[in-house]
Amino acid sequence: MSTRVDKYATTIPDVQSKNVLKASAPKTTHRVEALEKFFGSASAAQDFGAATKGYVLDHLGELLQQFEQKCVENGIQVHWAEDAKEANEIILGICREAAPAGSTIVKAKSMATEEIHLNEHLEAAGFKPVETDLGEFVVQIDGDVPTHIVTPIIHKNRFEVSDSFVREKLGPKTDVPEELAAQARKYLRQKFHEAPIGISGVNFGIAETGRIVLIENEGNSRLSTTMTDTHIAVMGLEKLLPTEADLATFLPLLAGSATNQRITTYCHFISSPRKPGENDGPAAVHLVILDNGRSKILNGPFKDILRCIRCGACLNTCPVYRQVGGHGYQHVYSGPLGAVLAPGLEGVEVYGDLAKASSLCGACEEVCPVRIPIPSMLLKLRDEGYRKKVINDGIPWSLFEMGATRPFLWRSGLTMVPMAGLVPHPLKNAWTGVRELPKREGESFRAWWSKHEK
Ligand code: SF4
Repeated sequence: MSTRVDKYATTIPDVQSKNVLKASAPKTTHRVEALEKFFGSASAAQDFGAATKGYVLDHLGELLQQFEQKCVENGIQVHWAEDAKEANEIILGICREAAPAGSTIVKAKSMATEEIHLNEHLEAAGFKPVETDLGEFVVQIDGDVPTHIVTPIIHKNRFEVSDSFVREKLGPKTDVPEELAAQARKYLRQKFHEAPIGISGVNFGIAETGRIVLIENEGNSRLSTTMTDTHIAVMGLEKLLPTEADLATFLPLLAGSATNQRITTYCHFISSPRKPGENDGPAAVHLVILDNGRSKILNGPFKDILRCIRCGACLNTCPVYRQVGGHGYQHVYSGPLGAVLAPGLEGVEVYGDLAKASSLCGACEEVCPVRIPIPSMLLKLRDEGYRKKVINDGIPWSLFEMGATRPFLWRSGLTMVPMAGLVPHPLKNAWTGVRELPKREGESFRAWWSKHEK
């Protein structure tokens, strides 16, 4: 049985595959250099990242309580959402109170809101959500979905983006990135002026102080969270750090792993709504803390996937992701991260086949800033998938077992190997159907061993 990723790989347009490879490969090449410039040792920073996020998961209940208490003291209104439905209802409730239906809502990039399909709900309720991150904006006007958690349009090139902008009458055709950015900026600036509500994700919530930390490179998150009168932040419940001091490591660790930067262009530390006497900032800040299956993961064998800080390094380095991009995974979280998180959030029965979309080369674990052991998790998921009959790779393992445990049968089988090339075409599999089987040369290992054995 082939996975959904295998099936997608047979249909992916060549240009898409080239776009993904061209954009992802350099990020892996320069990752260590970027981290070592800042930390001296990339490995030591990864150790710190793993230990800190491990501590967060082991103390999540108490840290969340501390975080909520501090947020409330700061004037941030905290809401808890058990699942996507509840999160959407909470957000819609806030929007309806803050602005009339038909209002524009500006959105900063947020994977949590992608996860709960917030835009569809806002539109169904009559609001006009506008993605303001450049990549997410292109995704929205194209009716597409993001294919990467950091660079949503990694599968598109500037020529395709220009075609979309011409179609939307944003400006004349151009292949100059700065001109394309200017076209989008002109359109979006107006939306920032119109919108009474801004919605964002959260990169880190600081338990010690109740601050929300957002990082970005375009400035759209700042405009979404400060020009609007109501700011709604949506945070997966695992996104905590214990103290402000931890940011000294996590800001460069995330930026270095994600985009090879020492630090992102903008870092926002949101502590409260606008205070009396202040001129800017929203009058109300709401924080929606989202579970949506995370508690279930926390109490199971894949708990460590919740250490993830969404840097995308495992996607950039994965040989499977580099060939197919994110669409093939059919989930908002793709690549090695998605192959574990998607079945964790939504069940092995639904997404268990993603565990087979991996060569198990170990590159994802090597680059992960919080050292998540993804390959061993994929093996566990494959085991569970086989047991639940979600995965069936068509190999008759019982026949293999019969031969491998009976030396006579095994030796007899080996004598047939030279004839493997004569197998009729319909019996050849996808591998041998398009490749020559290598010819056996020289003597067998058994014959060699019996001569050399002392
Ligand atoms: S699993 Fe690790 S490498 Fe992959 S996105 Fe998460 S933190 Fe980054």
